[in-house]
Amino acid sequence: MSSYQKIADLFKTPPVGSQVTVKGWVRTFRNNQFIALNDGTCLQSLQVVVDSDKEDPIVLTQLSPGAAISAEGTVVESQGKGQAIELKAEHIHVYGGSDPEKYPLQPKKHSLEFLREIAHLRFRTSTFGAVFRIRHALAFAVHKFFNDRDFYYLHTPIVTASDAEGAGEMFRVSTLNPLQPPLTEDGGIDYKQDFFGRETNLSVSGQLEAELGALALSRVYTFGPTFRAENSNTSRHLAEFWMIEPEVAFADLKDNQDLAEAMLKYLIGYVLEHNAEDLAFLEERLIKEESQKPQDQRSAMNLIEKLEFCLAEDFERLSYTDAIRVLMNSKPNKKKKFQFVIEDWGADLQSEHERYLVEKHFKKPVILTDYPKEIKSFYMRMNDDGKTVGAMDILFPGIGEIIGGSQREERLDVLTARMDEMGIPQEELYWFLDIRKYGSCPHAGFGLGFERMVQFVTGMANIRDVIPFPRTPGNASF
Ligand code: ATP
Ligand code: MN
Repeated sequence: MSSYQKIADLFKTPPVGSQVTVKGWVRTFRNNQFIALNDGTCLQSLQVVVDSDKEDPIVLTQLSPGAAISAEGTVVESQGKGQAIELKAEHIHVYGGSDPEKYPLQPKKHSLEFLREIAHLRFRTSTFGAVFRIRHALAFAVHKFFNDRDFYYLHTPIVTASDAEGAGEMFRVSTLNPLQPPLTEDGGIDYKQDFFGRETNLSVSGQLEAELGALALSRVYTFGPTFRAENSNTSRHLAEFWMIEPEVAFADLKDNQDLAEAMLKYLIGYVLEHNAEDLAFLEERLIKEESQKPQDQRSAMNLIEKLEFCLAEDFERLSYTDAIRVLMNSKPNKKKKFQFVIEDWGADLQSEHERYLVEKHFKKPVILTDYPKEIKSFYMRMNDDGKTVGAMDILFPGIGEIIGGSQREERLDVLTARMDEMGIPQEELYWFLDIRKYGSCPHAGFGLGFERMVQFVTGMANIRDVIPFPRTPGNASF
């Protein structure tokens, strides 16, 4: 690789007067003279000025949107507006041309729906460049946050034999011939003959394994792909998504809330500091989009304002019981405007209720705790009232649930009683019970859906637009 300059570096410290080489993809080529060249290192394209009298005419015909080129020349102060510098090209090399008639990314505004159909090319748009640079920054910040706080990154398995979490439908992993699977005597599929000698699935969570790590390493986190075969075709659900799951020994529900709030604020602050240009672009994009909507449906804050607001405010913390009281007294509940009207304590909260609490009532991020045991998982710690468990959900404006977590039940007898009640077989989870037998201790953790975080920070309305290649019901292209 011969040496060349990143366009981001040229803008940062413009080496006016010096000779440089840049490489990237042509966004536009105007008047047989001006190339907008983008190499993905930053939002802004570099204007490359071609001397069409001197340049090879064949090269000129190849300079169409999409082409990959290098340009060598002198950095000069720009005559035109909109950019400080431009490159006066003396030599252009075309690595790969593009067909101007067929290239799907024409220099005009394309809808996000259309761009989803050409996800292999959408990285080359300003919007997706910004989204994926921010996605990267968030991922990096996740590791930095935990590393700085003495957490160890633990890789939990993707193929799993336990369906204990009950977090949703799972994808089966099997090498058996689907047309003629081996059968047991009573006619079922004989998974003993399958690859792992038992039924296996793609993991819905790394939590149970992370708990094992935490009870030796004190603080661990996972950050990996997670799979749910639930048929929820919403703007907030993917069949394959990435989840961050810290697990902390000697921690209770209060510690858990503090950690989650600190982490969310750190991630928001990191992007505000490091991705200002991309955020400003996405904010502009949203402002244009919002201006199409009726006045009463527009959001009260612009993107950056909203992020700064979340950084500055303490999250509202309240119990499920208090939240039910707020909801039952709310206008939409009394006027039966909710699709699911809350009748009693014990009701599962739907996203309309979560969003009411966050967007209408408290108008800031909310942490709900201590849910009825009936609507939460078996491993959550039983409270003294015998009715609620030490669960916490964090609700964000525009997103709803962004984090789900809990203090874990560390008392063996309480845990096994709860498993019996819920019909969860203990043999399969002997290892999960073992850490309650040998040196058990209070511990807590949570799961952050990474794409929901990217959605919140970028303001992208659909979760399909914050992961490179979304997997959703009926779609696994690319
Ligand atoms: P929801 O009620 O929104 O479907 P959940 O309660 O099933 O979520 P958890 O099992 O608590 O989700 O998972 C932890 C976090 O993972 C959630 O708070 C959310 O941020 C994220 N998450 C869960 N399911 C999905 C999904 N299908 N696609 C993307 N992110 C998800
Ligand atoms: Mn949840």
